[in-house]
Amino acid sequence: MLSEAHRILKTVFGYDDFIFLQERVLENVLDRRDTLAVMPTGGGKSVCYQIPALLWEGLTVVVSPLISLMKDQVDQLLTLGVPAVMLNSSLSEEQYRSNVAAIRAGRARIVYMAPETARHPAVTDLLKSCSVQLIAIDEAHCISEWGPDFRPEYRRLAELRDAFPDAVCLALTATATPRVRRDILECLRMASAAEVVAGFNRENLFLKVDYKVDPLGQVLRVIGRFPGESGIIYCHTRRRVDSLCRSLRDRGIPAAAYHAGLDDARRRRAQELFVGDEIRVMVATVAFGMGIDKSNVRYVIHYDLPKNLEGYYQEIGRSGRDGLRAECVLLFSHADAAGRRRHIQHMEDPLLRRAAAAQLDAMVRFAETESCRRIPLLGYFGEETPEANCGMCDNCTEPDRPALDVTVPAQKLLSCVVRTGQRFGAGYVVSVLCGSKTKRILENRHHELSTHGIGTEYSPRGWRSLAECLTWRGLLERDSEFGALRLTREGWDVIRSRRPIHVRWHPPEEAVPGQVPDP
Ligand code: ADP
Ligand code: ZN
Repeated sequence: MLSEAHRILKTVFGYDDFIFLQERVLENVLDRRDTLAVMPTGGGKSVCYQIPALLWEGLTVVVSPLISLMKDQVDQLLTLGVPAVMLNSSLSEEQYRSNVAAIRAGRARIVYMAPETARHPAVTDLLKSCSVQLIAIDEAHCISEWGPDFRPEYRRLAELRDAFPDAVCLALTATATPRVRRDILECLRMASAAEVVAGFNRENLFLKVDYKVDPLGQVLRVIGRFPGESGIIYCHTRRRVDSLCRSLRDRGIPAAAYHAGLDDARRRRAQELFVGDEIRVMVATVAFGMGIDKSNVRYVIHYDLPKNLEGYYQEIGRSGRDGLRAECVLLFSHADAAGRRRHIQHMEDPLLRRAAAAQLDAMVRFAETESCRRIPLLGYFGEETPEANCGMCDNCTEPDRPALDVTVPAQKLLSCVVRTGQRFGAGYVVSVLCGSKTKRILENRHHELSTHGIGTEYSPRGWRSLAECLTWRGLLERDSEFGALRLTREGWDVIRSRRPIHVRWHPPEEAVPGQVPDP
């Protein structure tokens, strides 16, 4: 069978050999085993279902979340002479009907559909009238609440699976932690599936976390180190994309902006300029990147904290596709983390809230680690790190970066938590430190405390950042329900012993030593 597959690879697709894990995936699928394939973007997932579709009599159903990608793939297959169609909401009624007719008549070998299309009873009926051999589910991590882009309609794919128990099921994703993998297997009833998982380590990516002090300056310095090279800057919000893009242009750096708030034409234009090397700097939200094939991206900057390590991994993975060194700089601040945490505390669904909090913790752990960054990153994907020193992250190459002494502000913050009775959240404690006289503070008579107003060195945001940092360090703990801060035993220890506290953030050159950077 595999030799047949190889023949099709050559004659239909024009490739000489399988790449990465294609062969192992195909071995299993052609053996009619359900398979979960975790392969990096660009790893060549599509032929893993396209080849069986051509080898077997019958129909292959491909579920894919992105209509634009679906269309590209169908067009590409048609030019290769492979009868493929798609069913989704972008089609005119007439096109839809003619595609349905092609499927019914057995003229199509592959049908692409959106997950919401797949669960229409009419579609199931249509598929029942064909002999469905293979169900391929692309971006299968969308099934899991623990994954980076959970989509409820993906869970309903279980019904599709149940409707065709004899079809082989192939779930594909570029990103899945062990937990997400388990969810996929359970949801799609693939208990005895083969799992083919690619190594996650991208050795040519240099990983670096810089403390976010002066983000625009930091971005400019990275850009300055890569003259004439392409790079992507990811921001959390559309507004930030627009304003950063403007700031870069004001400084004479041609930059393109990309986010979901721009119309299709402008997005396409921005993408073309970037892919065609006409504009070197792309400022974007995470909406940018899926399905983009550009090999010479030399750096990726995360201006804001990514939502989770899967997202971070996918985004940095868009650099260095040519195998040459690329640099990935994350601008981290505890204030960003604290902001994210406040947002998470307001999420209603307890399951999603718990998952989001765990993802944030993993993200901060990655930023805060003092060991090789590949340990928490690859560990998150259930993979061990090959060597203790990778030589390609800041912690491995500059283990002696200076640490900042935050003893005095930390003491102030801890004693303010104690003085206010360990009953309040960071926001309140910080307002006391900063000397504000809100009604609540006056009622509690906390304006009379000796710690009221002593926090002159930082802004409230800087203090919240320190609170988050000390919590992270295990000196404070946060009540899980209301977020009230309490000292841990170690926190008390620090107050009593006046033990110095250093944090090994990465002060960029101009940060003043001894001062907590205030993003
Ligand atoms: P993914 O969906 O995993 O990101 P694709 O299936 O789109 O990957 O393939 C990524 C790229 O690799 C495409 O440009 C494709 O043409 C190319 N490719 C796939 N298989 C092979 C192969 N066996 N040999 C050479 N190139 C391949
Ligand atoms: Zn390392």
